[in-house]
Amino acid sequence: MRALSVPFLDLVTPHVELESELTAVFQRVLRTAGFIGGAMVEEFENQFAAFCNSAHAVAVGSGTDALRFALMAAGVKPGDVVVTVPNTFIATTEAITQAGALPEFVDIDERSYNMDPERLRAYLEKQCTISETGALMSNRCNRPVTAIVPVHLYGQMADMDAILKLAEQYRLVVIEDACQAHGAEYFSRKHSRWFRAGSMGRAAAFSFYPGKNLGACGEGGAVTTNDTHIAQTVKMLRDHGQAKKYYHDIEGYNGRLDSIQTGILSVKLRHLPEWNVNRRQRAEEYRSLLSTLDGGVQIPYEPTWSRAVYHLYVVSTPDRDGLIAHLNAAGVGTGIHYPIPLHLQHAYEHLGYTVGAFPAAEQAASRIVSLPMFPQLTAEQQSYVAHSVVEFVQAPTLA
Ligand SMILES: *Cc1c(COP(=O)(O)O)cnc(C)c1O
Repeated sequence: MRALSVPFLDLVTPHVELESELTAVFQRVLRTAGFIGGAMVEEFENQFAAFCNSAHAVAVGSGTDALRFALMAAGVKPGDVVVTVPNTFIATTEAITQAGALPEFVDIDERSYNMDPERLRAYLEKQCTISETGALMSNRCNRPVTAIVPVHLYGQMADMDAILKLAEQYRLVVIEDACQAHGAEYFSRKHSRWFRAGSMGRAAAFSFYPGKNLGACGEGGAVTTNDTHIAQTVKMLRDHGQAKKYYHDIEGYNGRLDSIQTGILSVKLRHLPEWNVNRRQRAEEYRSLLSTLDGGVQIPYEPTWSRAVYHLYVVSTPDRDGLIAHLNAAGVGTGIHYPIPLHLQHAYEHLGYTVGAFPAAEQAASRIVSLPMFPQLTAEQQSYVAHSVVEFVQAPTLA
């Protein structure tokens, strides 16, 4: 097989392909100087809400802003506890902290890498107590637990029926971290139909960081929700707490998304369905190329109720560092998402978690590798990557 150099991610090709459409956006905005707000922002918000099957989308400065504003608008208050998973990008918990709340973790499902509803149940039953006033209190910190943030990691939705049922039972708000899951789908056994990421929780956060399935040419994010009050509140929060210019109902933030980025996102959103189909086809191709490896390298697990959009293609192997070194030598780019679970990060020492607290997340962090996955990955590049993985697994081990 011909040796190739395969990048982990190619962000140049899709932008060069769309260059004239993208530069037209810039020209249009230059000629009106409508840099902030206006029709382009609203057009994109309507298009993105429709894409997510959600009533509203509100464009904001980043995915982190989206999550923080969604939590605040949904009523999370300073001093509350918000439950999430330890194996996510730190922005998930940064947003919780920025909303004034304290993150607590529950472990993940070993196969899907997403929040394990049974472990969430165990947390709610055994690590929380209902106070005299009826509030659900965390035993760790004696503060009220008010929200759950499931993360649709790598482009696959968490098991939302089970999570929403527990949330209803314990009267908790669910805010989806859909920052990696634009267009991912979940079949609800409860409602007997498919739902898009961003349409199931009270609200959801999306990121348009350039490398995401839908990326801006800079920073960006959005909150989706079916709740008109939440949409209105997020609009105020992103714009200094004003509903009308210079009439500030609350103190807010500078969290708007500018017109150029929303115009760019409108152009790219038209291509997203096709790009997501390509990602699913690449995943299927990896599956067939790597399925012979029985245990040497474990490929992603996609339950029948999930249609993942493969933001990342993550495999797992006991000799992760060996595989990365082998692929690197072969000219194949890789990533680790993420090498240190949040509960073991320096930044969260004060939360007091120790090694062993979340065994599934810790084991995943030591074994996962992300292989090249993007819509423009060619068949030749992909078979070279798969060939290199197979070569590593089948090489006789040097004792
Ligand atoms: C990218 C990402 C975010 C944050 O998005 P930004 O736009 O970078 O602020 C949050 N959560 C997850 C899971 C992400 O992957």
